Amino acid sequence: SAKRHGRNHDQRFRPSLDVAGDRQLALVNDLRTALAKGSQLELHYQTQHELGSGVLVGMEALLRWRHPEHGMISPGDFIPLAERHGLMSSLGNWVVERAVAELASWRIAGLPQVPVWVNISALQLIQGDLESRLAAALVQHRVPASLLGLELTESVLLDERAGDIYPRLEALRALGHQIAIDDFGTGYSSLSYLKRLPIDKLKLDRAFVRALPEDRADAAIVSAVLAMARGLSLEVIAEGVETPAQRDFLYDNGCPLVQGFLFSRPVPAAEIEARLLGEPQPA
Ligand code: C2E
Ligand code: MG
Ligand code: MG
Ligand code: MG
Repeated sequence: SAKRHGRNHDQRFRPSLDVAGDRQLALVNDLRTALAKGSQLELHYQTQHELGSGVLVGMEALLRWRHPEHGMISPGDFIPLAERHGLMSSLGNWVVERAVAELASWRIAGLPQVPVWVNISALQLIQGDLESRLAAALVQHRVPASLLGLELTESVLLDERAGDIYPRLEALRALGHQIAIDDFGTGYSSLSYLKRLPIDKLKLDRAFVRALPEDRADAAIVSAVLAMARGLSLEVIAEGVETPAQRDFLYDNGCPLVQGFLFSRPVPAAEIEARLLGEPQPA
């Protein structure tokens, strides 16, 4: 029988580490219920900024699950569960639908229109009808595709089950979506795909930012990625910027965009609305 491994001191609820299968299945059922109701799920938004000016240039939508008994469960814990149990397409569709609906509500409220980036799981490209779901949501809420960016990880681009990803990305970009490679530098892909892939942006993984500027290897990697991206005309956004010293290193090395706790944590929609109110209206 499954045995819990002496983690009694760890009060945090970690479903993906929980070896008890029954408990996992119970949680999968809870997630099904949450999807059906919609009420336990929410998107939090983390702002993205131009590094020189501080101007708000975008926001990343990050999924949150407020479980009625276990409290807030982090996506790193329940997304793998959703992927294993066939719920990822539904969950991904919920995210797209909610992000687009919130973009529309901000437009209606007269707030500045800032692009929202959603994370797209490989399984949404493999099993789901991502393109038609995107189109349906955008048409229904009268939101332009240019306001909905798509973040894909390197693993998605290498997943053969996703079919030939190039024409699909081309088509999404032709509709107006921007595409970013998330967690850039942590995958196992070769650099040659950067030359061919129809993408707009690299999100430099926080693993490379964490030890800046002291760690000489990370400093070398980051400045090389920035130089390479400039040469390829790709934008770079550094993830996980927490300290002024990290920010200054990135600025000195020409990093155009930043996201991280130094600027803002992910916050609920209501808080983002308050911030958008304070933003200068676009010309
Ligand atoms: P990600 O897409 O790379 O998102 C960035 C993660 O880093 C977020 O964690 C964010 O809260 C965290 N973060 C941002 N700035 C900082 C910082 O300065 N310091 C530190 N320590 N952390 C920072 P979160 O929200 O827990 O999400 C974790 C991962 O779960 C995401 O990584 C993404 O891979 C996945 N995820 C979240 N929402 C969705 C979703 O709607 N769909 C899919 N498919 N995946 C999602
Ligand atoms: Mg992301
Ligand atoms: Mg990331
Ligand atoms: Mg990540």
